[in-house]
Amino acid sequence: MSLTRISRIRRAKPIAVALSAAVICVASASASVAAPDPSGAQAAAGQWVEQIGTYDSLVSPDYDGMVPISAASSGTTLGLGTFDQLDGEMVVLGGVLYRVGTDGVPVKVPASLTTPFFEGIRFQPERSGPVAPGTTCANLAAAVNALSGSDSGIVAVRVRGTFADLVTRSVPAQRPPFAPLSQVVAAQTVFPLGQRRAVLVGFRTAPDLAGTGAPGLHLHGLTADRSAGGHVLSCVAGSDVQLSVQRAEGVRIHAG
Ligand SMILES: [Zn+2]
Repeated sequence: MSLTRISRIRRAKPIAVALSAAVICVASASASVAAPDPSGAQAAAGQWVEQIGTYDSLVSPDYDGMVPISAASSGTTLGLGTFDQLDGEMVVLGGVLYRVGTDGVPVKVPASLTTPFFEGIRFQPERSGPVAPGTTCANLAAAVNALSGSDSGIVAVRVRGTFADLVTRSVPAQRPPFAPLSQVVAAQTVFPLGQRRAVLVGFRTAPDLAGTGAPGLHLHGLTADRSAGGHVLSCVAGSDVQLSVQRAEGVRIHAG
């Protein structure tokens, strides 16, 4: 397996290169060389986000599953993504893959399914802390930055507890020629879940890794009873929500 390493780039544009290599590593310009952090948080040694495809390629748009999820998911315990033809939202919890289709019901699926976009990590949270009640998902990115002590690179995120209001969505399978993602989400199925216990997982991707993942904080989730979930559109934290974060060295994009 060939390996190409790209580091210290300000903006990731690895797509053309990724097609000719088995794995592309894209490191944050600062994630692994940060000055001593008063918070004590450090990027977990050797922990990378294992990835298939890139967000840029997904929204180009190209929703064709390239390779099985298993090409990158081995050993990962937390993650998100989608499936061939954009057929539902993927949530990875405890190493178990779930698909949430437009019926809103999470179903366990095998890693043999193909995907155009997957991000996963062996989640080993470095820091955890309470989320102020009333905090919205829109404001969680700032909390992630503060807790992780980093506003660069990529940070794995888990948010767990009772949400006063939680809204998720899924999207229907697409057929070529693919419509832009903006048109697809206009026809998304929205699940207003209300007050629910849930776990939300995903990644905060900073501008120095733009294009590899969805910009900002991208969360998918499942309710505690595993009866509902999807891509998180909005949330409001209740009184017992805990945020856990893990800074990664960067992303490893598996092309096959
Ligand atoms: Zn999503």
